Amino acid sequence: MESWLIKNVTVVTMDDERHVVPNADLVIEGASISGIWPTGRAPAAQGRQTLDATGMVAIPGLINAHTHCAMTLLRGYADDMPLMPWLKERIWPFEMKLREEDVYWGTLLGIAEMIRAGVTCFNDMYHHFEATARAVVDTGMRAVVSGVLLGFLPNADELLDVAIAFAEQWKDKGDGRLVTMLGPHAPYTVADKFLARVIEGARAAQVGIHIHVSETRGEVEDSLRDFSKTPVARLAQLGLLDVQPVLAAHCVHITDDDIAILAAKRVGISHCPGSNMKLSSGVAPVPKLLDAGAVVGLGTDGAASNNNLDMLEEVRLAALLHKLEGKDPTLVPAYQALEMATRGSARALGIDDRVGQIKPGMKADIALLDFQQPHLFPRHDVVSHLVYAARAGDVRTVFINGRPVMRDGALLSLDEREIYRQVGERLTRLI
Ligand SMILES: [Zn+2]
Repeated sequence: MESWLIKNVTVVTMDDERHVVPNADLVIEGASISGIWPTGRAPAAQGRQTLDATGMVAIPGLINAHTHCAMTLLRGYADDMPLMPWLKERIWPFEMKLREEDVYWGTLLGIAEMIRAGVTCFNDMYHHFEATARAVVDTGMRAVVSGVLLGFLPNADELLDVAIAFAEQWKDKGDGRLVTMLGPHAPYTVADKFLARVIEGARAAQVGIHIHVSETRGEVEDSLRDFSKTPVARLAQLGLLDVQPVLAAHCVHITDDDIAILAAKRVGISHCPGSNMKLSSGVAPVPKLLDAGAVVGLGTDGAASNNNLDMLEEVRLAALLHKLEGKDPTLVPAYQALEMATRGSARALGIDDRVGQIKPGMKADIALLDFQQPHLFPRHDVVSHLVYAARAGDVRTVFINGRPVMRDGALLSLDEREIYRQVGERLTRLI
């Protein structure tokens, strides 16, 4: 069993007491965190590897609660357009040409980017989802993977059967790093009858559901016209929100009744401020959701609408956006923003029993940031720095499931040059 001692580090635990522990020794045994000790006090053990983390800050690995990882292939391909023409004229036609291996290499590119940014888990919905799952298992990453289901495709029913079989077969692969779900794209792309089959499939496979909900005003207006209900009310009536867990991405245009439903059903919400700002979708009522006790995590969405997978940037956007929108600088304070990207996302995905905090018994998913830098001095408040001053480039070392996947800025399970070569070659066919 591999064992690590991370020496003399400041630990931001994100635990119930909000402990920030300076001068600590963090011990990892196998896949899990076994203890946090005052430096020099950890009991000795044979064969333990030591990492001197003087000047570093350890945080629970960031959890990207909503993305489409292989959309890195479309980064910068279509910008500055409204959501529907963007999807219909640019994104969907490109995606129809994608093959399994394109998604594999696009996912590797996204995983490389995320690990470099201290992200240790992502929640994905995409085409050729087995390739996504393979990339996760191959790289030591942690992820929740669901196949995207679009009800209007001629082979939609067949794809649903494939997605259910995938969810059953790939569940817990990669030493438990892989979680599977079903991914009906959005209420406006799937009919009630199809959603009923999805719910039945999720129940049978004992997996959750990942879906986009109320991202644009137009989507909600159409739902009110066609169903006399908001998308949230419609999903609740169909019984979809009773599946555990449900991850609803965006939830921008929601009513007070919707908020009450989402909170009561413990639906996980992925707030995606960067994507919502870029597509001008609107501002999700996050302070209201949090006040109502809803479970809110944070996600980047795909790289075509962000255009990066940098979760520290997303944390900062979440902290800033609501202050501006609510004309109140006390809204979404630093700790709450960082909590959304760690424990919040873990709760939203139903994996908070294993990740989201640094404490004994939790899986060792940890990012170490180098705080010996001008933009992180002086250290009045470590959490404030993480939210308002730190950058992805400050992340130096990352552990996932007890294993180092990046050390001193070098990725250990990914060959970046080969990724660039593969992606470059594939794009000559795709565009
Ligand atoms: Zn999305």
